[in-house]
Amino acid sequence: MIGPDLKFKDQVVIVTGSSSGIGKACAVHFANHGAKVVINYNSNAHEGMQVLDEIVSNGGSAILVKADVSREDDVKALFAEAVSRYGKVDVLVSNAGLQKDSSFLEMTLEQWQKVIDVNLTGQFLCCREAARQFVKQQENAQEVNHSELSIGKIILMSSVHDVIPWAGHVNYAASKGGIMMFMKSISQELAPHKIRVNSVSPGAIKTPINKEVWSDPDKYKGLLQLIPYKRIGTPEDVAKAVAWLSSDDSDYVNGETLYIDGGMTLYPEFADNG
Ligand code: NAD
Repeated sequence: MIGPDLKFKDQVVIVTGSSSGIGKACAVHFANHGAKVVINYNSNAHEGMQVLDEIVSNGGSAILVKADVSREDDVKALFAEAVSRYGKVDVLVSNAGLQKDSSFLEMTLEQWQKVIDVNLTGQFLCCREAARQFVKQQENAQEVNHSELSIGKIILMSSVHDVIPWAGHVNYAASKGGIMMFMKSISQELAPHKIRVNSVSPGAIKTPINKEVWSDPDKYKGLLQLIPYKRIGTPEDVAKAVAWLSSDDSDYVNGETLYIDGGMTLYPEFADNG
């Protein structure tokens, strides 16, 4: 429900891939804290409408825009729609992503390419568009901005698999490893423009992307072995961290990756002396 903490009042936030899972939780969280939210979906209009309805019925403000983040024209149109409706963009949550799993020996070029196109090239296209928009807004501002604070924030959705190798998912791990260096490099380049760029790297979060694991009791038990904190994460766990990184409370945080993983990256297999 909207309020009472309207930390993002009147800020315009684009969340890609927000018709489900982590993106949906981010869209709802930002809207509940006063933001005007651009919900993006690629193929499931019905799910996108449900997120829009949830935000609007809670008293929030949002629009729903179809765009495939791996297509340059779609990404440009997504930002144009956001600016046309709300006049500006303050935050990009570059979240859309997918898996096309296969053993390495069996992996097709199509499986490799699809994951790289959406998870890596899609983030490049969205981040470039956001950065261009932030710079343009600053150049077109009527008054000189004397604030020391950031003029635009970008959060990239990475994964613990930007540091944990993942057999059977090499396309996905390569895409997220790529996000790590992409994020750091653009953060270095954009910081002088007062644009902040950071990533979040979730561990196991209960969403449609990994339903096959958490809906099977045996696989779920196996998964918990990998999590020292002994629970699967929720999309809201990630949304709250994304919101902090997007807020002025983290204004001096640049080029960082925040792991939201219940300790998955702590080498849990060494907890009993290795
Ligand atoms: P999800 O499947 O619910 O969400 C992915 C979203 O991306 C969907 O809404 C989907 O429609 C959208 N999408 C896919 N291709 C798209 C495209 N070409 N254009 C626009 N949107 C597209 O799963 P999720 O777990 O919420 O995943 C969100 C992000 O979180 C992904 O980047 C994923 O890699 C990352 N992540 C998830 C977990 C986890 O455990 N769930 C862990 C680490 C990272």
